[in-house]
Formats: sequence, structure tokens, C-alpha cells
Amino acid sequence: MAKTAIITGGSRGLGAAMTKKLAELGYNVVVNYRSDRSQAPTEEMVEQLKKEYGVEAIAVKADVSNYEDCQALVKAAVEKFGDKIDVLVNNAGITNNCNFIDITPEQYTRVINTNLLSLLHMSHLTLPYLVDHDSCIVNTSSVGGLVGVINQADYCAAKSGVIGLTRALALEFASRKVRVNAIAPGMIMTDMLRGVNQDELNALAATIPQGYIGDPSDIAGALEYIVTAPYLTGQTISPNGGFVMP
Ligand code: NAP
Repeated sequence: MAKTAIITGGSRGLGAAMTKKLAELGYNVVVNYRSDRSQAPTEEMVEQLKKEYGVEAIAVKADVSNYEDCQALVKAAVEKFGDKIDVLVNNAGITNNCNFIDITPEQYTRVINTNLLSLLHMSHLTLPYLVDHDSCIVNTSSVGGLVGVINQADYCAAKSGVIGLTRALALEFASRKVRVNAIAPGMIMTDMLRGVNQDELNALAATIPQGYIGDPSDIAGALEYIVTAPYLTGQTISPNGGFVMP
């Protein structure tokens, strides 16, 4: 029987690469996005996945920082694919890049709610459908969850919180056959980095021991490993070109 995966923030960047990987692995996918401008591209993506991989796929708009939206997202998944969910990828995220005097409470609250609170919402709502069969949650953290980054205090707080949540849920649900792991990407070329000019990108790349900025496929590869690794739980894997060696 086909397996089901939900991925938050699946419309672009790392989420789109991971969605494609899950479809390639044969999962029916529930692809979440938030903005109106991502609706048409996400709907096109699900049609393409259905054609290319022969899986079922739906696109669901929801702001995952909002509990009611998360309820609607999980309900849509269960209505379409039944009450057994195999993989939850908590990937949606945003950054601010602002010094901690000028930042507003609204800005940092939005980062915390999108990058951390949403994982509690989605895990809380999805776990009843994940327990007691081999399933997993994969959380997107960041190297910012492993080390400090200037002008990213809110992001670092959220992303290290993701690692704490990952460990605690891994412990709590190991006996219920749910594995919980995190991916902490280094610098990967997505819209998150597209605002940065070429000189700055070159300077960033020079700080990475392997000498280049990663590709979303590097993160999709880590996801493939995690979903197919039955003895792996509570861990954080960091594809980062050697930038951070925790
Ligand atoms: P991206 O290209 O900017 O894509 C962000 C995704 O998150 C989009 O699909 C967006 O949906 C979705 N999203 C944002 N807020 C949301 C909300 N409230 N509800 C639902 N969806 C929401 O970013 P990315 O680089 O792929 O990042 C993906 C994840 O990896 C994030 O958690 C990020 O922190 C983490 N990460 C990225 C890097 C990197 O270098 N790129 C490094 C470390 C960690 P819309 O399309 O509708 O806006």
C-alpha cells in the first residue's frame, strides 16, 4: 500500500526538492504552502509529480504558525489518504536577518512561530496518525541551530529549539515506532539566499571548507537517508560542506 507524507513549505527551495524525493520514493504527498503566489506553482508541481512518479499528490494552503490552519492541513491529508501517515517533514521556515536592538517583537515572534511553534502544532496533530507503525518525523533545523549567527538571534533560538524538540519527541515516541530526526542544512542555494549579491555569495562560499554553497538535492539526499534508516532516531544530520563540525 502506498505510504503518505506531509511536507510543510513544500512549494519552493528545500521543501520542493524533498517533496520530489518523497514522490520518487513512492510516497503520496501532501504539499503545503502559505502564500497566494505559490498556489499555481505548487498545483503545477503536484500534477507533474503524479505524471512523473505515478503517486497521488495534493497541494494544501495553510499558515503552519497557526494551529487552526494546521488542523485543516492534517484533516485534508487524512481525508485524502486515510488515517495512517508515514512521514511528516516539518520544513517551512523564514528568516529576518536583523540586529537584536532594531528587531521588533512582531518580527521575532513571527520567526519563532513559523520555525518552531509550527513544529509543535504539526507534530501534535499528526502523531495520532504516525504512532504504532514504522513512521518518522523529519524536522528542518539549520547550522544556526548548532552555532550562533550574527543578526539571527531569533532564527538561532528557533532552530536550536527544533533540535531539542527532535530529541524529546524521539525519546517519547521510540516505543510507539515513530522515529524523529532533524536535518541542519548549511548554506544552500534557495530563495533564502537569492537576495544576497554575487560578491557576498563568493565571500560566503570561501568560508565553507568544501568551497561552495550547497544544492537543495543535498538536503533531499539526507532526507532519503533518514526515511530509510530504521535504527536512526533523535539525531541531527548537518549537510554543510564542513562549515560546522559539531
Ligand atoms: P525558501 O526557499 O524561502 O522556502 C520557504 C518555504 O517555507 C516556502 O515553501 C514557503 O511557502 C514556506 N513557508 C514559509 N512560512 C510558512 C508558513 N507560515 N506556513 C507554511 N509555509 C510557510 O526557504 P528554504 O531555503 O527552502 O528553507 C526551507 C527550510 O530550510 C527553512 O526551515 C529554513 O530555515 C531551512 N534552512 C535553509 C537554509 C538555506 O541555506 N537555504 C539553511 C538552513 C536551514 P510559500 O512558497 O507559500 O511562501
